[in-house]
Amino acid sequence: MKKDLILIICIGLYVTIFAYSLHNPTNSSSNQYMTDVSKLMPVKVERIVKGSEIESIRQALREAEEKDLKVSIAGKRHSMGGHTYYHDSVVIDMTGFNDILDFDKKKKTIKVQSGATWEDIQQYINPYGLAVQVMQSQNIFTVGGSISVNAHGRDIRKGSLISTVRSFRLLTADGRILNVNRDENRELFYLALGGYGLFGVILDVELQLTEDELYEMRTETLDYKDYSAYFKTEVQGNPDAQLHLARISTAPDSLLTEMYVTDYMHANGTLSDHNTLKKEQLTGITKFALGVARDFDWGKNSFWSLQKEYFEQVDGDLITRNNAMRGESKFLEYEAENDTDVLQEYFVPVDGFADYIDDLRDVLSEEDLNLLNITVRYVNHEEGPVLSYSDEELFALVLLINQGLSEQEQKKTERIVRKMVDVTLDHGGSYYLPYMSYPTREQLHRAYPRADEFFSKKLEYDPEERFTNFFYEEYK
Ligand SMILES: Cc1cc2nc3c(=O)[nH]c(=O)nc-3n(C[C@H](O)[C@H](O)[C@H](O)COP(=O)(O)OP(=O)(O)OC[C@H]3O[C@@H](n4cnc5c(N)ncnc54)[C@H](O)[C@@H]3O)c2cc1C
Repeated sequence: MKKDLILIICIGLYVTIFAYSLHNPTNSSSNQYMTDVSKLMPVKVERIVKGSEIESIRQALREAEEKDLKVSIAGKRHSMGGHTYYHDSVVIDMTGFNDILDFDKKKKTIKVQSGATWEDIQQYINPYGLAVQVMQSQNIFTVGGSISVNAHGRDIRKGSLISTVRSFRLLTADGRILNVNRDENRELFYLALGGYGLFGVILDVELQLTEDELYEMRTETLDYKDYSAYFKTEVQGNPDAQLHLARISTAPDSLLTEMYVTDYMHANGTLSDHNTLKKEQLTGITKFALGVARDFDWGKNSFWSLQKEYFEQVDGDLITRNNAMRGESKFLEYEAENDTDVLQEYFVPVDGFADYIDDLRDVLSEEDLNLLNITVRYVNHEEGPVLSYSDEELFALVLLINQGLSEQEQKKTERIVRKMVDVTLDHGGSYYLPYMSYPTREQLHRAYPRADEFFSKKLEYDPEERFTNFFYEEYK
């Protein structure tokens, strides 16, 4: 009898807790370890709150204020320096806040909740013959995370992501929801875009879209010394060229000398014959080749040959803009106990490319860095975010590096990264901030001359420093 009573109480308690959890709008979990895609800095956070509606996000902010806790904001966590979390903070995970709110085919605009990914948007707009103007080389990221780093991609005509943002709503540290655009709350527009989640939660965003188009892929192999001239005459100087991507060899046999380029040229043809959205096709083989490249020099040589062969094969193929911008990303997913892959990205003036590469090669020849790949893209002069990485025309070099997880290995990569950043800065360049915070404060200030203004405006809008992350702590 007593046993039955205990059982009934237990079931009652379980049902009550279960029912409460279903109705609990904050849908949160406590005392969890959290990290980002780099896996280099796991820390304990107070709570991860899944933001599924505006009220639950607001409530999480209010509760954090009451308990004097810091708040961090996370999208797909593909930034790599603790930009999405902080020890003992409340992390608002935006990935469930991903509805399409409005779409105007005529005006070519779309309004989405900030946890929507580019994939969500592409799936929605592709049937209407429309495409995203600017996004990364892959479509896996959230819109909120992408505009908070002011991402850039393959389109050489359209600038960085900020140029395509019409407006957004921002939940600020004091709990207000503001409309932010180039007229209303203009200052916040240029702070929160490229603002690394430090000025509030971007709730929803209105983006300008463009036509989906048909391109013919044109590939070419060249020497790095010819790349700037090739780009200026054959790509920038040719109105048919719209997207562009290059790779420079990291294989020991041709280190930083051989390149191949892929241009996407406007083509005639019927869009509907090509516009089924493609699934990733090359995961197995590329994942295997990259795996071998991590461990062996001959693997790096084969990986380079394989990439070149593949791109030579696609020369002349037709592809839609939406498909060209989706990219392959699954082959980059890497799980290992002792090591991980990280990215670095350096920006250098177009004309100084060859000289820069010579100096970068000198650093790499002296050091033992497990460099797997370098992609090169073009970044246009961009319209004024305070933390701006480009006030002139630049090439952007994305370095994929394999490194150990141990403290010693991290120190080693940090030292080499600082050398590479110095070379980049000495060539009038800059570097991208969503990756590991290896560069020094001095380097950040050299690369971002308005950094002081950025951090003092942060304190003006958020004096309690409610919105915090490890990137902010490192550089504020
Ligand atoms: C494999 C790989 C490929 C990449 N390719 C490119 C590329 O081609 N071009 C490029 O420019 N970058 C590239 N990046 C970098 C990428 O653009 C950034 O890491 C971007 O932030 C990823 O989006 P996310 O959803 O993962 O954002 P997260 O990493 O989750 O967040 C990034 C920042 O935005 C803030 N944030 C997120 N959501 C919100 C919100 N709703 N409101 C306010 N703040 C918010 C976070 O606090 C954080 O500071 C790449 C990264 C990886 C790992």
